[in-house]
Amino acid sequence: MNASHAPIATQPAPSNAVAALLKRKPQFFIGGDWVEPIGADRIPVLDPATGKQIAVVADAGAQDVDRAVAAARAALEKGPWRHMKPVERQALIWKLSDLVEKHTDELAELESLNNGKTKFMATVVDLAGTRDYFRYMAGWATKLTAETFETSIQGPPGVNFHTYTRREPAGVVAQIVPWNFPIAMAAWKLGPALATGCTCVFKPAEQTPLTALRLADLIAEAGFPPGVVNVLTGLGESTGAAMVAHPGVDKIAFTGSTTVGKLINKSATDTLKRVSLELGGKSPVIIFPDADLDAAVGGAANAVFFNSGQVCCAGTRLFVHRKAFDRVVEGVSAAARAIRLGPGLDPATEMGPLVSREQQERVLQYIESGVRDGATVLTGGMAPNAPGYYVTPTVLADVRSDMRVVREEIFGPVLVAQRFDDIEEVAAMANDTPYGLAASVWSSNVSTVQRIVPQIKAGTVWVNCHNFIDPAMPFGGFKQSGFGREHGRAVLDLYTELKSVCVAY
Ligand code: NAP
Ligand code: MG
Repeated sequence: MNASHAPIATQPAPSNAVAALLKRKPQFFIGGDWVEPIGADRIPVLDPATGKQIAVVADAGAQDVDRAVAAARAALEKGPWRHMKPVERQALIWKLSDLVEKHTDELAELESLNNGKTKFMATVVDLAGTRDYFRYMAGWATKLTAETFETSIQGPPGVNFHTYTRREPAGVVAQIVPWNFPIAMAAWKLGPALATGCTCVFKPAEQTPLTALRLADLIAEAGFPPGVVNVLTGLGESTGAAMVAHPGVDKIAFTGSTTVGKLINKSATDTLKRVSLELGGKSPVIIFPDADLDAAVGGAANAVFFNSGQVCCAGTRLFVHRKAFDRVVEGVSAAARAIRLGPGLDPATEMGPLVSREQQERVLQYIESGVRDGATVLTGGMAPNAPGYYVTPTVLADVRSDMRVVREEIFGPVLVAQRFDDIEEVAAMANDTPYGLAASVWSSNVSTVQRIVPQIKAGTVWVNCHNFIDPAMPFGGFKQSGFGREHGRAVLDLYTELKSVCVAY
């Protein structure tokens, strides 16, 4: 176990632009305006690198949710949005992407300060991804198609039929996201909804509301009609639950924990709202001895430690062929030890803190449970003596498939490593989980790759890479990692209703 680590630096002061944003009044973005909350409940927003309060947001109650849903409904049914040409929707979404690009520096800093990730990563991953996601989705606005087809209906003599489908917006969409990629998750939700002509009530996570509020400014500046996007801040159990239960909502799009995903799915059963769920994971990283082992070591370390391990598709279960096990596990442990922890605004930082005290405690408790169950801590496993919510990157060996650290989503920088001997055995081990979000396979043998890919029960299988996501690649889970596929053409099915039209003539 690595008992020492470099001292944690102090968080640099924010820029003037971001300092001004932190002082914004606790308000909601409803019907194109910044409005006062009806109730007095507020939520403090903390910097995870210091534990200090940096801002305050409002906690939306049921009446605020009513207002936001009413604004979205009015925008859907009465406003200019429904009459806009696809090319106009495309132009608006593109304009938003340009504004995101223009404000990248400030948004990346805000994201770093609120979430804990480094400003560098926020810039090159989250903000670049957000900009490009909106650009990709803008294009779909003008490429939505449906079908015409020949039918065999027997009508009265002389009557013919022309039949076709129309793709119509799913309607008012409630969108709820977690704290790990706050603005990028907003783009994943808003992009396809706007491309298909839906209207939205969006709620960021209670811990990370700041970039969503700034994005609402940019949505207004881009010129979207009032009510097309409404942003509420608030708690999941109250604001989120009210959004899900609201009779004025047609569809719910959720990313977050499997536990809350199941609650949402149950609640939506009463009204049969459309639901898409992108939930947790416990993704395997499978390394064969013929892989480029240096690349595999770096890839496996990144797969689990990227974003401090707070990634739904993080490669948290490492399976290495017996012949390469020691070399790979030593390599990943050395990579873990070399990672410099620190506050996100310090350019020397490589890994930031976890998002909250709660998450830090949860991750440390998981590590303790692993040790109690007999796991060996090869490196990490501790919280540095610093005010922020840090956990040192951790590698656990001597684990068994029944341990909680192997079965449950930890959502922190914790890797569990196991050995295997052949393809069938490792495919069974990889699939021995309720989750099925993603996996990676590392090998230079094309037959090994082709044999194992179809056996892995996961929505994404990476080969010789991990965590690479593109707006064109469908993304979502098998099994309890959720249902529905976001991105690509597939996401259009989640945000549209298909209507068959049958014309007799
Ligand atoms: P979570 O509770 O599932 O939160 C996700 C979002 O759902 C948040 O906006 C949350 O609001 C909201 N929410 C919570 N309860 C709700 C309810 N009853 N009805 C409607 N919305 C509700 O996840 P979390 O609290 O952020 O993290 C807990 C664990 O979930 C993590 O440790 C991790 O294992 C997992 N997680 C998975 C992912 C993923 O992408 N797969 C992402 C984040 C977390 P609040 O912010 O107020 O809770
Ligand atoms: Mg929560």
